[in-house]
Amino acid sequence: MRDIRALDDVSSPLSGGSSSQTLNLKELKPNRAASFDYLVVGAGFAGSVIAERLAAGLNKRVLVVDRRPHIGGNAYDFYDDAGVLIHRYGPHIFHTNSRRIVDYLSRFTQWRSYEHRVLAQVDEQLLPIPINRTTLNKLYELNLASDAEAAEFLSSKAEPVQDIKTSEDVVISQIGRELYQKFFCGYTRKQWGLDPSQLDRMVTSRVPTRTNTDDRYFNDTFQQMPKHGYTRMFEAMLNHPNIKIMLNTDYCEIRDEVAFDHLIYCGPIDEFFDYRFGKLPYRSLKFEHRTLDQEHFQPVAVVNYPDESVPYTRISEYKHLTGQVHRKTSISYEFPSDDGDPYYPVPRPQNAELYRRYQTLADTVANVTFLGRLGTYKYYNMDQVVGQALALYKRIEERTDAGTAVGDTTAPRPSTARQGS
Ligand SMILES: Cc1cc2nc3c(=O)[nH]c(=O)nc-3n(C[C@H](O)[C@H](O)[C@H](O)COP(=O)(O)OP(=O)(O)OC[C@H]3O[C@@H](n4cnc5c(N)ncnc54)[C@H](O)[C@@H]3O)c2cc1C
Repeated sequence: MRDIRALDDVSSPLSGGSSSQTLNLKELKPNRAASFDYLVVGAGFAGSVIAERLAAGLNKRVLVVDRRPHIGGNAYDFYDDAGVLIHRYGPHIFHTNSRRIVDYLSRFTQWRSYEHRVLAQVDEQLLPIPINRTTLNKLYELNLASDAEAAEFLSSKAEPVQDIKTSEDVVISQIGRELYQKFFCGYTRKQWGLDPSQLDRMVTSRVPTRTNTDDRYFNDTFQQMPKHGYTRMFEAMLNHPNIKIMLNTDYCEIRDEVAFDHLIYCGPIDEFFDYRFGKLPYRSLKFEHRTLDQEHFQPVAVVNYPDESVPYTRISEYKHLTGQVHRKTSISYEFPSDDGDPYYPVPRPQNAELYRRYQTLADTVANVTFLGRLGTYKYYNMDQVVGQALALYKRIEERTDAGTAVGDTTAPRPSTARQGS
């Protein structure tokens, strides 16, 4: 078996952090003296929030492992070779309506105001998306002056659909086939590798159409970015003497090497069970990051390319998100793909059904809790994952108060924690 690595053996975004976080192999391996109340798999939002709460709130000893070489999960950001702060896994914009979640995260970061705006390249023009009155006026050379006029125009385009079941039905019934073809069809086919008629209606119900001129992508009450980036926020969150972190470490490599009472698993649930019922489908992305010798590239952070003949779905320019001033700029192209890291649970009824089978199995496993986007196969945004982790913590805290802690050291070791072997 590969050696378990100490955190300070690897190039880590945490290397400037507290030495209390480093875990040395010598402390851990020979006598398994380093036992933990919780083993947390995954150092993304789900794993980091629950680890922080257990360590700081309940004084539990927590080991966090991640197979990637960094913390932060998909929200990880870093300074590239040119010194531009970029998001390795595509642009992550924080937005929420939950004051509780903002208050919690504000313990670890300050914020910078940022309202996300997206343009779509359609008919040789850059037009606001979600479609709003400005989009319609520019595209059709109109002069719609009010919400009512825009609504009337859209209903003149809309086509009645008897039974709205799919993404295609949702869009066509609201704005008609022409706008559907220009803005949604190609983008969705590229993004999911499926025709919108094969996708659950919730996929496009995430993209509202507006009759006003509000061109913000989100309308949540809180839209701000961590002032110094996500990774700095995660570092602050995980900087606790009760938390040890091991990067470049897969759960399979460590599960027999550490003693722990409870496992919180934020990786893919089907992988945990060795794909017993088959693979849960995910859509992945390939990112092509580029640095350009110019200060700006595009007018907004994200430009979408719905045209199917363009192989990528969008280009992101990070300086809009971060506010960084730099004489160069870094951008990334996104190419959807079936292979690669699991990013997006594919929203189809048969996949939800397959997940339910795993969930039922998971319910029978003692001392293991599944959490996060991958652990619960849910298309969650960052704030929702934070909310999910805080809710789990609350349940653990209540059980601890009641004397039946999930992390009770008398509890047997997780029986299925070794299942994959
Ligand atoms: C391209 C893209 C853009 C997005 N944009 C936004 C956005 O703008 N706003 C927003 O709110 N949300 C956005 N999201 C969603 C956001 O990324 C997720 O909500 C969030 O990252 C989920 O956190 P998580 O901890 O559940 O999962 P992840 O961030 O995926 O973290 C899971 C971690 O577990 C680790 N892991 C898995 N299995 C194992 C194993 N066996 N052993 C060890 N480690 C393991 C992985 O390496 C990973 O680091 C976006 C997602 C993607 C893919």
